[in-house]
Amino acid sequence: MNKTKIDWVKGTDNKQGYTWNPVTGCLYGCEYCYAKRIANRFGLHQETNKIKVLEERYVIENNCIITGEKTIISNPYPYDFTPTFHKYRLDEPSKKTKGVNIFVCSMADLFADWIPDEWIKEVFETCKRASQHRYLFLTKNPDRYIDLYEKKLLPYKENIWLGTTATMPTDEFVFFRDTPYKSFISIEPVLEPFGELAKGEMPQWVIVGVETGNRKDKVIPKKEWILSIKEQCKGAGVPIFMKESLRELMSDEFIQEFPW
Ligand code: SF4
Repeated sequence: MNKTKIDWVKGTDNKQGYTWNPVTGCLYGCEYCYAKRIANRFGLHQETNKIKVLEERYVIENNCIITGEKTIISNPYPYDFTPTFHKYRLDEPSKKTKGVNIFVCSMADLFADWIPDEWIKEVFETCKRASQHRYLFLTKNPDRYIDLYEKKLLPYKENIWLGTTATMPTDEFVFFRDTPYKSFISIEPVLEPFGELAKGEMPQWVIVGVETGNRKDKVIPKKEWILSIKEQCKGAGVPIFMKESLRELMSDEFIQEFPW
């Protein structure tokens, strides 16, 4: 578990933000994926087409040719961006007794179809054991939330925020107004104007951001796209958090609100 500077994870209630990655790797192949770039850069280039389970940290032993001294280095991405369950990380939240905000799986999509139910169940069992924290999940595959909820495989509900990532209005949003889970949507990076955000129901929080970096085909949104989202949030009484990447574009309209 690592401290993070991700602005929406840090929160306003003095809860330090952390990322926790019991699972890394993702197969969606989004062109703007920063996580894949990191994993490929630091990985050991043993990518496979099978999901992987690591019971222990993956370590490499080196013998120095000159001194004969042995060094042991652990590598968090031995299979690069292949979906990998790092079981040895499951106890990390329990080691921190003070409650913090935790973005779970910032380097993966935990609810993607290729992730076994069992992995998710074990992650939720950890959340239950370390209930002092607030857990923030994000997926591009919100149908999996419903599937697992109906199968009663998400029994722990306190302090759980189930988020959906969307980049364009055709992406599917699933909100959980009628369940014990809290819900949010992260519109990032905005690739198109959104029109009506939700018909009849809204999530409990909206995050919006743009792509950063110098990628050639990066989309620069128009201010009115973001204003439309902001107005809909205001109308529905839903807090909206604009990421730092929007500060300059939005100037006086820039706002960062939290639901807690
Ligand atoms: S869903 Fe997220 S983690 Fe997966 S490829 Fe896309 S940006 Fe990367």
